[in-house]
Amino acid sequence: MKITEHIKNAKGKTLFSAEIVPPTKGTSIEDLYKNIDPLMEFKPPFIDVTTSREEYVFIERGNGLMERKITRMRPGTIGICAAIQHKYNVDTVPHVLCGGFTKEETEYLLIDCLYLGIDNVMALRGDAMKGQNHFQPTEGGHAYAKDLVRHINDLCDGKYLSGEITHEYNNRFCIGVAGYPEKHIEAPSLQYDLQKLKEKVDAGAHYVVTQMFFENKKLFRFVEQARAIGINVPIIPGIKPIATKNHLKMLPKVFKIDLPEELIKEVESAKDNNTIKQIGIEWAVNQCKELINFGVPVLHFYSMGKSDNIKQIAKEVF
Ligand code: FAD
Repeated sequence: MKITEHIKNAKGKTLFSAEIVPPTKGTSIEDLYKNIDPLMEFKPPFIDVTTSREEYVFIERGNGLMERKITRMRPGTIGICAAIQHKYNVDTVPHVLCGGFTKEETEYLLIDCLYLGIDNVMALRGDAMKGQNHFQPTEGGHAYAKDLVRHINDLCDGKYLSGEITHEYNNRFCIGVAGYPEKHIEAPSLQYDLQKLKEKVDAGAHYVVTQMFFENKKLFRFVEQARAIGINVPIIPGIKPIATKNHLKMLPKVFKIDLPEELIKEVESAKDNNTIKQIGIEWAVNQCKELINFGVPVLHFYSMGKSDNIKQIAKEVF
C-alpha cells in the first residue's frame, strides 16, 4: 500500500515507522531481523531501507602494492525489502539514488520493485563519493533527485528508456523525497532549498521525509515555510536518538545538522554510556510528544543498526 494511503487511513493518528541500513557484505540478515523484531509491536506500516553508494577500497596484493577497487560495502537494498515484506508483511521503501547508478540501472531496479509488489520508493540524489569534495553525477545517471522523480513517474506512464511501451502496470509508485529543516548543506539559504523541494514535489513526489533535527522549532518553521510556498504533501519528521558521546561529533559531521547546547552539555556531563542513552531517549520522547501534538502524520526513526532505544521511546509515545 502507498505511504499516502497509510496516512489517510490513520485519520490523523500519528504512525510509527523506521529506517534500517543494510548490513555490511558477509553479515547475516538474521542480525537485521534482531533489530526489526522489537519494533514490530508498534505496527510500522512501512520500513525504509537505505542504499549506500559505491566507494573505493584498497586491497593488499602481498608485494607491497595496493590495488584500488570500487565496491559497495552494503549492497542488497531491494533483496532486503523483499525479505522484510515477506517475513513481516509490512510495506518497504527502498531508497533509490542518483549517485552511483546509470539511468538504465535505475530502470532495472524499478522494474524489480514492480515485480516484488513494492509500492513506494524514496528518490534521493545521494552524497559525493568518499574522497570527492562535491557530488559529481555518475556518467549516464541523474544529477538531481528531481530528475529521478520524473524518471520514476515516466516509467509509471510506460515511458521506458528504450521508448514507450504499453505496459500492464496501472499502479504508480508513491514517491518520497528528502527535506532539510536546517537546509541542505549545499543550498545557499533555506528559502532556496525549499524552492528546490517544491520542484521535486511539482515533478511528482508524494511526500517528504526530513533529515534528523533536535529542535522542534526548526521543523515547525520548515513546515510553515513549505506550506507558504505551496508544498502541500505530507511532511514526515525524521528522529534520531543520541546514544553515544561519539554522536556529538559524528551526527553533525555526517548529516550536517546542529545539536542544541543544552543536549550537548547533558551528554558531556554524563558519567557513562547508559546515562547518555537515557538522555537521548528522554530528549527524543519530549520531541516526539510535541510533534504528535503538532499533528505530524508519522514519526520516522533512524535506527542506524540499533533499536533498543527506539523501542523505549515508542513505548512512551505510542
Ligand atoms: P536534491 O534534492 O537533488 O538536492 C541536492 C542539492 O542540490 C540541494 O542543496 C538542493 O538545494 C540543490 N538543488 C536541487 N535541485 C537543483 C537545481 N536544479 N539546481 C541547483 N541546485 C539544485 N543518502 C544515501 O546515500 N543513501 C540513502 O539511503 C539516503 N537516505 C536519505 C533519507 C533521508 C530522509 C534524507 C533526508 C537523506 C538521505 N540521504 C541518503 C542523504 C542524501 O542523499 C543527501 O542529503 C544528498 O546530499 C542530497 O540528496 P537530495 O535527494 O536531497 O538531493
